[in-house]
Amino acid sequence: MPVAEAEAHFVFVPLMAQGHLIPAVDTALLLATHGALCTVVATPATAARVRPTVESAQRSGLPVRLAEFPLDYAGAGLPEGVDNMDNVPGEFMGRYFLAVAGLRAPVERHLRESSPYPTCVVADFCHPWTSELAAGLGVPRLTFFSICAFCLLCQHNVERFHAYDGVADDNEPVVVPGLARRFEVTRAQAPGFFRVPGWEKFADDVERARAESDGVVINNFLEMEPEYVSGYADARGKKVWTVGPVALYHQSTATLAARGNTAAIGADECLRWLDAKKPSSVVYVSFGSIVHPEEKQTVELGLGLEASGHPFIWAVKSPDRHGEAALAFLRELEARVAGRGLLIWGWAPQALILSHGAVGAFVTHCGWNSTLEAATAGLPVVAWPHFADQFLNAKMVVEVLGIGVGVGVEEPLVYQRVRKEIVVGRETVEAAVRSVMDGGEQGEARRRRARALAAKARVAMREGGSSHANLVDLVKRFQHRDVAVASGAANVTTTPPRR
Ligand code: UDP
Repeated sequence: MPVAEAEAHFVFVPLMAQGHLIPAVDTALLLATHGALCTVVATPATAARVRPTVESAQRSGLPVRLAEFPLDYAGAGLPEGVDNMDNVPGEFMGRYFLAVAGLRAPVERHLRESSPYPTCVVADFCHPWTSELAAGLGVPRLTFFSICAFCLLCQHNVERFHAYDGVADDNEPVVVPGLARRFEVTRAQAPGFFRVPGWEKFADDVERARAESDGVVINNFLEMEPEYVSGYADARGKKVWTVGPVALYHQSTATLAARGNTAAIGADECLRWLDAKKPSSVVYVSFGSIVHPEEKQTVELGLGLEASGHPFIWAVKSPDRHGEAALAFLRELEARVAGRGLLIWGWAPQALILSHGAVGAFVTHCGWNSTLEAATAGLPVVAWPHFADQFLNAKMVVEVLGIGVGVGVEEPLVYQRVRKEIVVGRETVEAAVRSVMDGGEQGEARRRRARALAAKARVAMREGGSSHANLVDLVKRFQHRDVAVASGAANVTTTPPRR
């Protein structure tokens, strides 16, 4: 349907980090397939990573735009070009978020001139400033999460019911209140989004913006966690649209391979390697876009993979991410396991790899995208959480879905760099990989459950499926600027924009 007929115009404002950007772009592309115009707001380094995907969608006729805005690097005291979270040094993070909030005025000016005029802002939950952006434009705003509803509800409940009050030890487990099933979590594992020293005001702003939003969009599908989707919608009093797994937008080798960044290995080479392997025989190992294991951990992980005896693909990231000793270890390992182990020295075409029948399991840090991508591919996982929402996601795969085995890490590492000495030994890695790949009856049951989830995920995205219906509903509801969001959400009747 051409844009002129359906005037829905969604403005996506993703957090400039791969784990937030990639699913936001995929969601925009999916809405565009249903006739909505979608504009994705991005900083230059961020835009560069998704431009091939967006341009390929444009060539196929989809109404999608990439609107690029540089940060005020000098004004914010940021090094020039530092504008995606995987290239922002930890000490600049506060300034980075301030600089991103500074995009409000230029983005609003740009959108006021755009035709058709925006009808809805879909903003990452990490952008509280988009409250003012949407208000300034006079349009509703939805909060976007690539985080499962189980995690959102657990986090919400421990805060709402003050579960950590009086608990002196950050590593003491508390029971998550308000759920039918019993789950334990620690404050260290799930402190709340941005609930860390120095970020108190920002965390409050994030919470305020969430409370004021006109609805929630989640990259997941209803059938994976129906009770938690409805539980979260009820707890927040918001309508929730589950629209995923959004990675299923990508159906061709070319777009699968280009998803999220330029891959460090050609699609053909990667497919040739996988084609030569037996079905379900390969372990894929990746810790996402942000985690960089320390040297000791790299060595233990490598030796554990080698000892497991299974073929593996390991996304080790670019050589400059490793110290000399780790690099030497990786190069030696690469030579030793040639033919059986493939190391990818940079961005891995993860969506392409996971979609290949030779892959049998995924060792993941449990970022939500990777977790969902594993389930979508019908793969069991070794759950190895590091920080943020990853511990709750690990509970989701191990305890709720029954498709994962843990490596026994109970304490988070700090963001990006390890402060604590938490090293998972080679024997543990080997045992976890063997368990998820071989695993006898239990392993077979895990694989069955994973395959059943994958089938449900595909049904959800097909015509008549829950996510498909939610995408259609979003386009219909936000076709015009005067929108009343029903079902528990605030009624939003937008005022005419200030011109
Ligand atoms: N990804 C990828 N290649 C890589 C690393 C990551 O394609 O080498 C993709 C992965 O498929 C996922 C996203 O980047 O869609 C990472 O998101 P996730 O939530 O799993 O982890 P994060 O990077 O946010 O920690």
